[in-house]
Amino acid sequence: MTKKALVIGGGPAGLMAAEQLIKAGLSVTIAEAKPTLGRKFLMAGKSGLNLTMDEPVSAFLPHYYDARTHLDPMIASFGPQEVKEWTEKLGQQIFVGTSRRVFPKVMKASPLLRAWIARLLDAGVRLRTNWKLSGLSENNAQFQTPDGAKNIIADVVVLAMGGASWARLGSDGAWVEQFGPITPFQPANCAFAMDWSNHMTKFFGTPIKNLTLRAGDMISRGEIIVSRNGIEGGGIYSVSRTLRTGVPLTIDLRPDWTVDRVETALSKPRGKDSQTNHLRKALKLDPIKIALMRELTPQLPQDAKALAKMVKCLFIKTLEPRPMDEAISTAGGIPWIRLDAGLMLMDRPGIFCAGEMIDWEAPTGGYLITACLATGRWAGLHAAQYAQRT
Ligand SMILES: Cc1cc2nc3c(=O)[nH]c(=O)nc-3n(C[C@H](O)[C@H](O)[C@H](O)COP(=O)(O)OP(=O)(O)OC[C@H]3O[C@@H](n4cnc5c(N)ncnc54)[C@H](O)[C@@H]3O)c2cc1C
Repeated sequence: MTKKALVIGGGPAGLMAAEQLIKAGLSVTIAEAKPTLGRKFLMAGKSGLNLTMDEPVSAFLPHYYDARTHLDPMIASFGPQEVKEWTEKLGQQIFVGTSRRVFPKVMKASPLLRAWIARLLDAGVRLRTNWKLSGLSENNAQFQTPDGAKNIIADVVVLAMGGASWARLGSDGAWVEQFGPITPFQPANCAFAMDWSNHMTKFFGTPIKNLTLRAGDMISRGEIIVSRNGIEGGGIYSVSRTLRTGVPLTIDLRPDWTVDRVETALSKPRGKDSQTNHLRKALKLDPIKIALMRELTPQLPQDAKALAKMVKCLFIKTLEPRPMDEAISTAGGIPWIRLDAGLMLMDRPGIFCAGEMIDWEAPTGGYLITACLATGRWAGLHAAQYAQRT
């Protein structure tokens, strides 16, 4: 008799699990709480869907920090190269950006998602949208639906309900009540709060380019954006893992120059120039960089040596992360110790986990989607094997 698989959550991890299960010959249903699938995936495509990073697996894996050993076999069998091929097989051309980030040529996620859902439906996957999982006892899953309570009985279940940010797109972390204990969620790739003075309002939305940021042992080269609520953007997301622990942030505003070169430039007589003009001319600093220095230290040092030190190491005291719901992703989730090598919950046989639900984190750069696809595939493959065995 055909075995039945149920996938809960229609994000990239769940869709990938469903694809493996249907290929293995199971009857597959995806149940999704929202009216449509992949809402966070579509949001990810708004500013360019960064699918993966064009680098060898050996360079790719360390971006998962402590989880790298667990993810190793999954990424080794579905890593950057496979993500590129998979995207192209769905009819989407890709390109590699200057920083080796891989995007679909159209940048957005909707054509890829449409093609993917069509392929799943063609293969026979059944969709149940507006179905929110409310309970799962043994192999009997209960749902709240617009037509009242429903249930599905399945031989295997893959949970792919996402992390705990952007709740309005579906990943509200509410599954913890049923499937805990977890490693507590924390914001990852998140913005940090700043209480700006009025001087900074004209810069809201402006990127500060070409910086080096340091927080604890993390270092990132890139840009940040000054926003109404604080600091956001790739440069700060990359150090958010240590920054959220309360270590201070330092910013190098002139990373290509040595401190001696900055000091020498600042030591030149400034004539009638104001200190701001001198900083701008001598160091070619953007006005926003000078405004940031003044915001943090209203009385800038007059001495060239001290000023050069500040340019190279602008100090920002402990910063608070913005609320977790605003974060690009979340750290924490189902701890690896609760999962077997096939991503099955050891205390709930027949129930597998995938995607951001699991306790791993990574910077932006396509590492998030790649791990969601790789764990979704792995959970799907092992769930299919489990169903055939039992
Ligand atoms: C603004 C933004 C930009 C991003 N950009 C990128 C990027 O460029 N590159 C990248 O790699 N990553 C990016 N990400 C992160 C990426 O989108 C996520 O890591 C990824 O979507 C997580 O996939 P997932 O399948 O694990 O979970 P999700 O995509 O969160 O999907 C989980 C699904 O489960 C459903 N669900 C939850 N609870 C239930 C329930 N009880 N019953 C039924 N269904 C339920 C949800 O509705 C949701 O559809 C971005 C994220 C954001 C917010």
